[in-house]
Amino acid sequence: MVDLLTQYEKVQGEIDTAVLNVLRSSAYINGPEVKEFQKELESYLGVKHVIPCANGTDALQIAMMALGLQPGDEVITASFTYVATAEVIALLRLTPVLVDVDPNTFQIDPEKVKKAITPKTKAIVPVHLFGQCSDMEAIMKIAKEHNLFVVEDNAQAIGAEYIYSDGNRKKAGTIGTIGCTSFFPSKNLGCFGDGGAIFTNDDDLAGKLRMIANHGQSVQYVHDSIGVNSRLDSIQAAILRIKLRSLDNYCKARNKAADYYDKAFSSNSKITTPARAKNSTHVFHQYTLLLADGVDRNALREFLAAKGIPAMIYYPIALHMQKAYTDPRYKEGDFPVTENLCKRVISLPMHTELDEEQLKFITDAVNEFVR
Ligand SMILES: *Cc1c(COP(=O)(O)O)cnc(C)c1O
Repeated sequence: MVDLLTQYEKVQGEIDTAVLNVLRSSAYINGPEVKEFQKELESYLGVKHVIPCANGTDALQIAMMALGLQPGDEVITASFTYVATAEVIALLRLTPVLVDVDPNTFQIDPEKVKKAITPKTKAIVPVHLFGQCSDMEAIMKIAKEHNLFVVEDNAQAIGAEYIYSDGNRKKAGTIGTIGCTSFFPSKNLGCFGDGGAIFTNDDDLAGKLRMIANHGQSVQYVHDSIGVNSRLDSIQAAILRIKLRSLDNYCKARNKAADYYDKAFSSNSKITTPARAKNSTHVFHQYTLLLADGVDRNALREFLAAKGIPAMIYYPIALHMQKAYTDPRYKEGDFPVTENLCKRVISLPMHTELDEEQLKFITDAVNEFVR
């Protein structure tokens, strides 16, 4: 699905040197590389504060903690997402309220968000799924009307731009109260281990987020709140500094592969290629097809696997159908768009190193099976 080795080999000299420098510096935690990466990411994103942390799940959890939400408060999020989004909400004893997604863009549906709001609602967590932005203008308008926080789960869309109706643009993750991302190796900006970051333009919140990520410590050995231990280590920061310089090129390479896929499937009536939202650029964390009713998805996966082509199902089971998240409020059929997507989506290899020969091999195989 990804080719991290080839990507590494293209910047191997720089990365090896940077990692060795960290090893020699012995500043393994909170070394200068972390601070430098923080500043460079702030400047890339055009956001006031970046708070590095240990992974994307922690980023979401620390964000929820910093907002001072109380057990029982309701947090609205998409029913079609990776489990981490709902997991941190539930872990903090907040109540995840799921809403269905748009059938074309797979992003949280603002009309359904409106309907899910109750007096207990405190926050909305849009997930910029597969690499493009949720409808942030609509979501921010709802949040303002109801005095809600917005935490953007930007683990899959770093580098994407939201395009406002007046043509203005902002980077994904810098629009809501707080933005969260992950540097897991297969993410669009991946390190060589775990990593994550939190973004905000709010000075007060930035202080709280930093404090919570560091054991709730305000001054050394003075703890003002209960926090967690969540750090980005210096080696990962050094690697991320180098890869950040290529992020826009990585996005371009992914778009080039996506364009090839789009064209190759354009005349296949049983395949719907990813819709491009008009209010967002796309950074193609995933390239996800929607198969027509009647196409045997498992057989397609096996057919591709026999040719050495991986394909994945993101996501096979909707959150409300997961054992850990069963809830008397929800039953099968409550999120028809999500349930339909879970049955019919399939994601093809998508990364920065796909060449035309590979793309032709993959698309020929898919078109041979799905006819
Ligand atoms: C990857 C991911 C996360 C979690 O990030 P980790 O770094 O793996 O903890 C959260 N939300 C979404 C949508 C993701 O894709």
